[in-house]
Amino acid sequence: MPDYDPNNIFAKIIRGELPCHKIYEDDRALVFLDIMPRAPGHALVIPKSPARNLLDVNPDDLAHVAKVAQRVARAGMKVFQADGVTVQQFNENAGGQVVFHLHVHVIPRKEGVPMKPPASEKEKPEVLADQAKKLAEAMQSV
Ligand code: 5GP
Repeated sequence: MPDYDPNNIFAKIIRGELPCHKIYEDDRALVFLDIMPRAPGHALVIPKSPARNLLDVNPDDLAHVAKVAQRVARAGMKVFQADGVTVQQFNENAGGQVVFHLHVHVIPRKEGVPMKPPASEKEKPEVLADQAKKLAEAMQSV
């Protein structure tokens, strides 16, 4: 497996070199909206530590990401009045991974509504800003 690349997009977001629509942050994890959501409220949960994916992440950081992802899923259910949540996580090119910093997709789902294909269209910044604000508020009580 290749080494971790500190110049991947999510590493730049962690360092504040690129913007994101932030939902939640603590000392070990960051949560923000996917710019090409597969459904409204599609969030990405990442560790702040430099992990390429599930294969090299420190288990404690992975456990923390899972705990945060559970809260994000609960917040998504609430804010989007969802009927369910899809959680995805891809590893290496063959596993469907495109950005090589570990991330967990948390996607609120409505009954009978299919997800859009990956990377199909960029959501408007104002829509993402509004959704991130609502999810950030909901994170305080889940
Ligand atoms: P994966 O690596 O799990 O296949 O997917 C990477 C995800 O990152 C995709 O869902 C894509 O839409 C998202 N993505 C790619 N570039 C950016 C970016 O600059 N900002 C944000 N917020 N999401 C991104």
